[in-house]
Amino acid sequence: MVDQQLLIEEAKKIVSQEDVKYVVGYKKGTYGFTVSPSYAYSPEYVENFIFNPLCTKNLTVYPMLEEKLPLGRDEKEDTRKIGLVVKGCDSRAIVQIIQEKGLKREDVVLIGIPCTGVIEPRKINRKFPDVKDVEDVLEEDDNYIIRFNGETHTIPKNELLSNACKNCETPNPPLYDVLIGEKVDTPEIQEFANLKDLEDKKIEEKWDYWEKHFDRCIRCYACREACPLCYCIECMADSLTPQWLRRSVNLSENTAWNIMRAFHLAGRCIGCGECERSCPVNIPLMELNKKIEKDVKELYEYTAGKDLEEKPLFGTFKPDDPEEFIL
Ligand code: SF4
Ligand code: SF4
Ligand code: SF4
Repeated sequence: MVDQQLLIEEAKKIVSQEDVKYVVGYKKGTYGFTVSPSYAYSPEYVENFIFNPLCTKNLTVYPMLEEKLPLGRDEKEDTRKIGLVVKGCDSRAIVQIIQEKGLKREDVVLIGIPCTGVIEPRKINRKFPDVKDVEDVLEEDDNYIIRFNGETHTIPKNELLSNACKNCETPNPPLYDVLIGEKVDTPEIQEFANLKDLEDKKIEEKWDYWEKHFDRCIRCYACREACPLCYCIECMADSLTPQWLRRSVNLSENTAWNIMRAFHLAGRCIGCGECERSCPVNIPLMELNKKIEKDVKELYEYTAGKDLEEKPLFGTFKPDDPEEFIL
């Protein structure tokens, strides 16, 4: 369990530094099991910081949103650092963004959280609908202890764990400035085991499978907004000249959107699962991301966001790279 007091103390120290603009952490949400991002501009705002298994959001999306904001006339760029609370996958996002030169290492101060997985909001809301005020959610051994309305519920961890966390091989942040508590053991996982069903399908079955899902896409772009690696100043989905994608919501345009996004994330997705958790119509986006991650690993021995010194996949060429696909 994460020592919340230590988290608050460390965040206070960081936000008090003159070269830090603000620290982004988590605070209790206003309803049910929600947890919201919390911007602390001074030490008193840090008092509401929490960390528990409901802290799913990948907060590294926030400095990237900030980077996109245009400066006002005569406004000078504020180059102070941004503090961030990061789990293993969130820290990998920062490593990847630094590799791509989207941020510099000195732009961020990272409060690392050794992570034992987060709860899938959909699963807990389905199990306990209409809960207005949650007192506590803790992890103990292989269970979650959930308290609300004066009741205590003990639920096996596996029932509520986010799907992305079931296959996580980087629970400890690879990059951090201060770590809250001891590193956790990396669980033994069968990497990409959950892709077997998809890979075993015939090509026509694969097409049917994805057609059914993409047909339900409402092009809300929540997957893009939640993703720390979707930080282009202008997304190809919004470009009008040229217009790569029409605004109409239909199977053809939806398929183009989802495939283009998945390929833009090739060798860059760090597997946090935020896109899938954000999708209002439950499209299994992680299957697509994981399949591409697997192919990238097999073809180029590359995994995103692990090593600060590594070059991004598409910024590197090795003479022995496979090139059968080049006509
Ligand atoms: S993917 Fe890994 S690091 Fe990220 S929340 Fe899940 S267990 Fe934690
Ligand atoms: S979040 Fe889901 S519905 Fe919205 S654009 Fe992405 S895939 Fe489509
Ligand atoms: S594509 Fe999804 S899983 Fe990958 S980094 Fe973006 S939000 Fe996370």
